[in-house]
Amino acid sequence: MTLDELPWPRIETVFLDMDGTLLDLHFDNHFWQEHLPRHYARRHGLTLDDAKALLEPRFAAAEGTLAWYCLDHWARTLDVDLVPLKEEVAHLIALHPHAAAFLRALRRSGRRAVLVTNAHPDSLALKLGHTRLARLLDHIVCAHHLGLPKETPDFWQRLQAVEPCSPAATLLVDDNPAVLRAAQAHGIAHLLAVARPDRRRPPRAVPGFPALRHFRLRRPLPPLRGRAQRSQRLKRLRQYRSRLS
Ligand SMILES: [Mg+2]
Repeated sequence: MTLDELPWPRIETVFLDMDGTLLDLHFDNHFWQEHLPRHYARRHGLTLDDAKALLEPRFAAAEGTLAWYCLDHWARTLDVDLVPLKEEVAHLIALHPHAAAFLRALRRSGRRAVLVTNAHPDSLALKLGHTRLARLLDHIVCAHHLGLPKETPDFWQRLQAVEPCSPAATLLVDDNPAVLRAAQAHGIAHLLAVARPDRRRPPRAVPGFPALRHFRLRRPLPPLRGRAQRSQRLKRLRQYRSRLS
């Protein structure tokens, strides 16, 4: 699937996941699967394989919960300060090719670009600092502030309170199929998975959802018109005013 194939005249708002969607998942894969186990092994006098064997089931048990994304949870359970450890490999944090150009094209077309992430606020801050992504977005929503991960259908209900949208005119791009299913249950009409969350790994198919191959646009996006255009302008104006006050 490519972005040019989407029914753009029917899309007003775009929700984008961060890790594995806008950002290459290589950083996170490397951090959790190599860098952290290596640090843990050194600290506890273990071999790397033993450290991995100890950590992997603990990671697997937390998958799909907010705890999995919570740096404080891992800092407590593993007794490791994760932020400085992440800084050590922060040079690996990178946007996917053409992601920045796509975000610019989205906003130029009058559509709303919203980052919706399960990432912990400290992780989010680290990644925003390294990618300068915030200037390309209309709004950033962190699941930790809503108290539920995106994998739960109620998350999407809560999201409406901070980022109202018309589900029928909303596109979600997310590399996590459980998140796409929850958004689908809430009525989000346009759903795209990601074929290659980690650019160093081969593409994959995601059962049940078309998978985006890359962010390259061949044609400019058709601009929003009429009521949709006015409503998105109004949202920006309100947001601008609330920042000033
Ligand atoms: Mg993701």
